[in-house]
Amino acid sequence: MTDPQGKAAEQADRLRGLLERYNYEYYVLDAPSVPDAEYDRLFRELQALEAQHPGLVTSDSPTQRVGGAPAAGFREVRHSQAMLSLNNAFDDDDVYGFDRRAREALGDALGEDEPIEYSAELKYDGLAISIRYEDGLLAMAATRGDGTTGEDVTANVRTIRAVPLRLRQPRDGTLPGLLEVRGEVLMFKADFETMNRRQRDAGEREFVNPRNAAAGALRQLDPTITASRPLRFFAYGVGADDGDDAPATHAGLLERLAQLGLPVGAERAVLRGPAELLEFYRAMRERRPGLPYEIDGVVYKVNRRDWHERIGFVARAPRYALAHKFPAEEALTELLDIEVQVGRTGVLTPVARLKPVFVGGTTVSNATLHNVDEIERKDLMIGDTVVVRRAGDVIPEVVRALPERRPSSESAEFRRDYRRFSMPQTCPVCGSAAVRAPGESAYRCVGGLYCSAQRKQALLHFAQRRAMDIEGLGEKLVEQLVDADLVATPADLYRLDLSTLEGLERMGEKSATNLIAGIRASRRTSFGRFLFALGIRHVGEEVARQLAQEYGDLDALLAEDWDALQARKADLQKDNARRRQRGEALIPVPLEGIGPEIIESLRRFFGERHNLEVIDALRALGVHWSAPETAGGSRLAGLSFVLTGTLPTMTREQAGELIRRHGGSVASGVSKKTSYLVAGEAAGSKLERAQELGVEILDEDGLLALIGESQ
Ligand code: NAD
Repeated sequence: MTDPQGKAAEQADRLRGLLERYNYEYYVLDAPSVPDAEYDRLFRELQALEAQHPGLVTSDSPTQRVGGAPAAGFREVRHSQAMLSLNNAFDDDDVYGFDRRAREALGDALGEDEPIEYSAELKYDGLAISIRYEDGLLAMAATRGDGTTGEDVTANVRTIRAVPLRLRQPRDGTLPGLLEVRGEVLMFKADFETMNRRQRDAGEREFVNPRNAAAGALRQLDPTITASRPLRFFAYGVGADDGDDAPATHAGLLERLAQLGLPVGAERAVLRGPAELLEFYRAMRERRPGLPYEIDGVVYKVNRRDWHERIGFVARAPRYALAHKFPAEEALTELLDIEVQVGRTGVLTPVARLKPVFVGGTTVSNATLHNVDEIERKDLMIGDTVVVRRAGDVIPEVVRALPERRPSSESAEFRRDYRRFSMPQTCPVCGSAAVRAPGESAYRCVGGLYCSAQRKQALLHFAQRRAMDIEGLGEKLVEQLVDADLVATPADLYRLDLSTLEGLERMGEKSATNLIAGIRASRRTSFGRFLFALGIRHVGEEVARQLAQEYGDLDALLAEDWDALQARKADLQKDNARRRQRGEALIPVPLEGIGPEIIESLRRFFGERHNLEVIDALRALGVHWSAPETAGGSRLAGLSFVLTGTLPTMTREQAGELIRRHGGSVASGVSKKTSYLVAGEAAGSKLERAQELGVEILDEDGLLALIGESQ
């Protein structure tokens, strides 16, 4: 037989256990493990359960108590007037209900159609303190603690510059003999960021949010630490007050606190009836992202202070005040999977697929994870319970995981539902290699010309004036061509025909004809422009021009052994450094000014089969260029040379210069495409390789004869 009462009791016990643990983490350790929304959800669940089964209410239930016990190490302070919490409202109905109950409590005191006047202000997200001023001097400060007993934090509060050590003499009126100011200690967002960055750099614990950072800073046993933390303060009420000019309204009280030199928030209003409260709420919700500090809602208080007592209290909160909470910016959900998206520039971005969760006012089911490092830093596993944050218009993000919710790594459940993410080795869109440049956190797809994710961008780059200069091919047209699947790679442009183009939207016969002409005309270009048009990462116009000059033609460039080139450059540079010291002439370094990053990028680009296919297709479709302009004529045009060994009268660099001046190109490694190997004394493996491949071999004289310079 089921026992509903027993079940409810069990559930209430479970909830209390959880809430107590969260209270401890939040109030004592200043390190909550779950977002406030999760705490509030469980809290309401317990409240509902207790309302249904009043017999279950225990006096020590979190629903009946304020905050947590004071931490050890501080002197305890008994509050002369209890510091209570606030009842929460989460929707409009809650606000109407609050107004109705206040009206009922006031009974005859209120005219039938007379709206209640409220003082509305912000709900600062910090921690409550009470500061006692005796004859205008700061005498004591205490945290709220459990509402009755707090911690003596006088020395710490004295270090907060926003808190006056001495009250100001008001213009009209006298200083009260005793005044307990109640308010919130908090940290501004920017200060929090700076402080957390410093903590991170120093390898210290980072704080989860400004509220917990403020609480942690205030509850330091060493006040010099508190002094180094950027704390602020806003006053919002009083406890004991023996001033003889006690204001009749709460709004008047705030005014008086301001006159005494205490910081009071400027966003406040006196309003009549619940509809105006809701208007204030909405306006402040809009303002929230722009405020320099965090607020988690607004607070309404019945303005007439003599009515407060009439309306009274419930266990842990006054009934004359209400905290109307904003939608939570953080919530818990499940990380279902991590997928990889490819951006327009080929960057692979991991994206979290989440169990849909309502946060920051909308349902969120995806969130960016930025990059692999971020996933590792946050120690995320697919299957994890995670905290998702969506603040204002900022895109949602996964803040952290709750690894303590993972089942034991030995369990079948863990093995079935949990796994680590690893970045794919190939682009999920086109299958080209995905690589990560040293020192970079992003992985990139190297199939620039081929990858459909990068298609539009690659085509626009290809067609631009400074590249292939295709007249009439602009952004709109590229969009259309790609979206209609007419063009995938730049080579497809040269396959377009008139009838296909005429079929496009807003494309008449004339513009189609012009475009075809533009595309045809672009086939004749220069090698440098062509290289630039390929859109190789880090290869801008200037680098492309240098490459074109150095290699002369595409085949020489394709034949380059990039690793060997890197090594050769490094050697030459070292050699030159020595020569410079000795005052000797320097040897020209190949591709001077083209750094290892660019060379690495070239290696990758030309190492990707997909890119080579597109290049071949472009050439087959008639893209061509004339041999580069050379100073000494073009006897060697189209010929590719490799130099090895010691030549009798020239250095290899001089020989290379000579070859290039006559339109030839020089590569560092022998391949089938090499036209000649120029070999000197002590030639080694390159000579063997040339013999193997049947590449023609010349000596210095042979080279000069070829050029026609020999006597
Ligand atoms: P509360 O923060 O919801 O409201 C009461 C407090 O509001 C007051 O004590 C005061 O400090 C503050 N306040 C700010 N501006 C105010 C103003 N203008 N006028 C009056 N008071 C103002 O209640 P609480 O009891 O301090 O804390 C409970 C809340 O703390 C929960 O709702 C939850 O969001 C959070 N919490 C979270 C965890 C967690 O594990 N994440 C644990 C415990 C509590």
